[in-house]
Amino acid sequence: MAAKKKATSWVGSVHAKCGVRTKSSPAPRRLVLLGAPGVGKGTQAELFSNSLGACHLSTGDIFRAAKSIPPAQRTPAMNTALEHMRQGMLVPDDTVIKVVGEQICCLHCDGGFLLDGFPRTVKQAKALDKLLAKEKLKLDAVLNYDLPLPQVIQRLGGRLICPDCRAVFHDSARKPKVDTKCDHCGALLYRRDDDQPASIRVRMETYKKSTAPLAGYYQKRGLLVTIAADGKPEEIFQRSVAALAARNGGPHHKPKSSAQKTRRPAKK
Ligand code: AMP
Repeated sequence: MAAKKKATSWVGSVHAKCGVRTKSSPAPRRLVLLGAPGVGKGTQAELFSNSLGACHLSTGDIFRAAKSIPPAQRTPAMNTALEHMRQGMLVPDDTVIKVVGEQICCLHCDGGFLLDGFPRTVKQAKALDKLLAKEKLKLDAVLNYDLPLPQVIQRLGGRLICPDCRAVFHDSARKPKVDTKCDHCGALLYRRDDDQPASIRVRMETYKKSTAPLAGYYQKRGLLVTIAADGKPEEIFQRSVAALAARNGGPHHKPKSSAQKTRRPAKK
């Protein structure tokens, strides 16, 4: 299992050293996870990371790490990022791009990487293309998690996060075994500041305007795999694995367009 990464170094600091113990793989997966806030990208990244030993790189986690740095030691970019996050707005592109540029070691992890929450704008996607070309790396696929808006809002409202190992729980859909405590490390779970109704509204609007167009961007490049994100996390994960295998002509292979949606399970 890949260890959780402590993301503490960004903009104004030296290049971050990746603390993740990845599994070396002959065919490392290099994936982008797309989708609205709350759709479950973090949970899927955690499941993928555990099964593939790929490095889970979440720009949101990196920005949240700035909170634990004493205010006097924060760079101006950190203060700007924290203020944008609190309001549910996107952190400026240039900051995000620099932050990801500091994480090159993660992009080279032996087990591959899972980009969660990056890119979020076409400008960021273009910067990622450039960075990967420079590093001689290629994306395998972009998994686009799709869920109707009311369900997304319900998921965001009940979300519980582990401050230490970043595991994601939900107060009804993915309850921790012991109330308020992380199943993996026992830390006290918390609700994110930006999972409040006012921030959720801003985040959804921003998603529609700035991030949703990325589906078209990656579809044109033949990388988009859209996954129905309803059901339990493990079911969505199985759907994701099957969709990737189908794309690679594996056991679940069905000759269909990579941009075609996986089927939602029949209602019980
Ligand atoms: P997340 O944990 O991915 O939901 O991100 C939480 C917040 O961090 C977002 O609402 C943004 O304020 C900020 N953020 C994370 N990733 C990005 C990104 N790629 N571009 C701009 N802002 C980001």
